[in-house]
Amino acid sequence: MQTSKSSRYMDLAIAAVTEYYQRDPRLHLSGTGAIAALEDKLARHYGKKYALCCSNATTALLAIALALDLKQEQFITTPLTYGGTLAGWLLLGNQPVFAGVEPVTYTLDPVAVRESITPEVKAILAVDLFGNPCDMQGLRDIADEFGLWYIADAAQSLGACRDRLPASSLADAIVVSFTVGKSLCAGEGGAIITDNAELYQKLVWFTQHPYRQYRDLGLENQFGLNGRMHPLAAAIANATFEQAMQDLQVYQSHCLAIAVALNEIGLTEVMPHSLGYRSTFFNLVSTWRDRPEPELLLRELGDRGFDLEILPLSLCPIPQQAAYVAQYGVSDVAISDYGNSFELRGLDNRVW
Ligand SMILES: *Cc1c(COP(=O)(O)O)cnc(C)c1O
Repeated sequence: MQTSKSSRYMDLAIAAVTEYYQRDPRLHLSGTGAIAALEDKLARHYGKKYALCCSNATTALLAIALALDLKQEQFITTPLTYGGTLAGWLLLGNQPVFAGVEPVTYTLDPVAVRESITPEVKAILAVDLFGNPCDMQGLRDIADEFGLWYIADAAQSLGACRDRLPASSLADAIVVSFTVGKSLCAGEGGAIITDNAELYQKLVWFTQHPYRQYRDLGLENQFGLNGRMHPLAAAIANATFEQAMQDLQVYQSHCLAIAVALNEIGLTEVMPHSLGYRSTFFNLVSTWRDRPEPELLLRELGDRGFDLEILPLSLCPIPQQAAYVAQYGVSDVAISDYGNSFELRGLDNRVW
């Protein structure tokens, strides 16, 4: 059955695909049309000079490591993320140094990052986990002080903000994803947003079609990744961008009302909420303050009109994942126990 929400997206997508078929099908190879329009929206959203559409966020992150010549280097990152954050960097022989995360936001703790710095570390790879914006000012300061690259995996946080700025917008490069469940869904896709002209040019060199390389750089490289975005996915992402951002805002205000209720009920750690700070609530995650009291919490939430479910957090820290250990070995890190954290479900923001 089609909900009115998904039929709205379908109408926008069909119009965009129809328009695509009415154009010269080779145009997208040079990064014009919907690709350029989507890149313009993303650059504006983040207040940056450049945006580059890629096949997905995982490939975009790999391309960034290639462009920055990060091979066989060390980087500081969070143990709490989806493996795709690190996949490309690991493939290039880079070694993660896992640093601790802040309670409540589950994002890299700048204090822990600072303690993990050694002369071998070349970059910080931060993640806005659950759509929670990380402490980007804290990470920016450390990156500047130690001359490190600060790269942000913002795959879950497009539409979030911190200090009234888009989440992770202080990073040297921001990576977003347009796969299923993300703030903007095009089936598959991703983008890199940056102010750094040299980085942008190298990314074009490593990921785009020679037509675009020629247009942007006056050079061509047939030996990179073919990491550009599918033109129909770009057409759909571009056509549904505004609708997706609007729907996200509605979803965010529902979640914010729940966060306010949780804080009022007082059984859980205080969730940050202010005009300047907003998660996308990719997952609505909270932590028990003392003992878990699921029945009491659900009753209190129900009394306030929220019909929700409590689920255990499905999160296996990277160094504990069997496939990680099999390929990259055992890491010498102390991993906190997240047994006291849980997820609230019941609001559905997923379109398709
Ligand atoms: C979804 C996601 C990715 C991977 O995105 P793809 O576009 O599917 O490659 C990477 N990191 C995080 C945190 C994600 O949520």
